[in-house]
Amino acid sequence: MKVILLRVGELFLKGENRYIFENALYNNIRKSLEGLKFTLTKTQGRLVVGGFDDEEQVVERLCKVFGLTSLSVAEEVDADMGEIEKHFSTIKCDGSFKVNVTRGDKRFPLTSMQVAAELGGIILDNNKNASVDLYNPEHVFMVDIRQNGKAYLFDKSIKCQGGLPLGTAGGALLLLSGGIDSPVAGYLMAKRGLRLEALHFHSYPYTSLEAKQKVETLAKKLCEYTNEVKLHVVSFTKVQEEIHSKCAPEFMITIMRRIMMRIAEIIAKREGLGAIVTGESLGQVASQTMQSMTVTENVVKTLPVFRPCIAMDKEEIVSVAKHIDTFETSILPYEDCCTVFLPKNPVIKPKLERAEREERQLDLDALISLALASEEVVEIKR
Ligand code: ATP
Ligand code: MG
Repeated sequence: MKVILLRVGELFLKGENRYIFENALYNNIRKSLEGLKFTLTKTQGRLVVGGFDDEEQVVERLCKVFGLTSLSVAEEVDADMGEIEKHFSTIKCDGSFKVNVTRGDKRFPLTSMQVAAELGGIILDNNKNASVDLYNPEHVFMVDIRQNGKAYLFDKSIKCQGGLPLGTAGGALLLLSGGIDSPVAGYLMAKRGLRLEALHFHSYPYTSLEAKQKVETLAKKLCEYTNEVKLHVVSFTKVQEEIHSKCAPEFMITIMRRIMMRIAEIIAKREGLGAIVTGESLGQVASQTMQSMTVTENVVKTLPVFRPCIAMDKEEIVSVAKHIDTFETSILPYEDCCTVFLPKNPVIKPKLERAEREERQLDLDALISLALASEEVVEIKR
């Protein structure tokens, strides 16, 4: 029977919390395959998906489940030498090869070496252009004998995302703009086991409705990995108009970001989320210097702010954006609220006292309440 053999990260195979990770992974796999025909069974350090008819779809979805390191489309046979040999006698092989055997079931009567030698012999007998090369073979035929009384035969492994099962690290609020960096930041943190909700600020009518649509598309793309993303959309128009009319222009971005962070913290706490995530990268723009981040982060009192792109070059961020297929959407040319009223010379090393002084020109509580009152929630699903 054709099945898909799934391998999980070593990291959580050990330790007392192992069952929590295993259960989460099991449930996440089921969820990712929703709507498709499949069966899922656990066996000693492996998971096996069977009973499918759309192999391509199943493989594609499984490749996006965090916590899986690799998978193989395999033939499942009884762990019986006769059965295994029968399969090997059908293998066509041109060029050099080796047979790799892992024996997870020590009750199996032959050693791994004996099985490999036996099966290698069968391939040599049936293929006149085949030769054994243990060190640099063109083909590797794998036999994985498991304790469930089955053997899995395959010749390829597909790399998966790695990481930790979604949700096992808690939940976080992603500040999602329409840009390249924040979807990447969300993906990277989700990969470490964080369930995501997202928060987007728009400045309609200064920003277009398409800009908002774009963010929904990005959230939808993240759902390929997270199944769902609850997207909070908040109007930032009034906040920006007020800052623009009352604060020093060079502090516009600093103050905007401080207010974004305050709103993010309120929403995150309300939703029971344990962190805020941004797509900032050190030195990328004026608002992403250490001093800017210090002044921005200063308003967040009770949560950590995660910036997984902080040490990445733009090129590296772009390559992840392409990997998760957000790049083409991110580069669509719609205005972000950060580009509305953009000052010519934003301060690069803002001082906290000065930012606080500028903010005294504003009725912060009223502005934040007004922004929160505009909140819309869009439940995005894969
Ligand atoms: P990105 O590519 O993610 O837009 P960026 O390089 O354009 O990032 P900034 O515009 O300085 O950088 O934004 C830094 C971070 O602030 C973003 O990565 C995102 O997390 C958050 N952010 C910016 N604008 C918004 C917005 N309109 N709504 C929500 N979060 C935002
Ligand atoms: Mg941006």
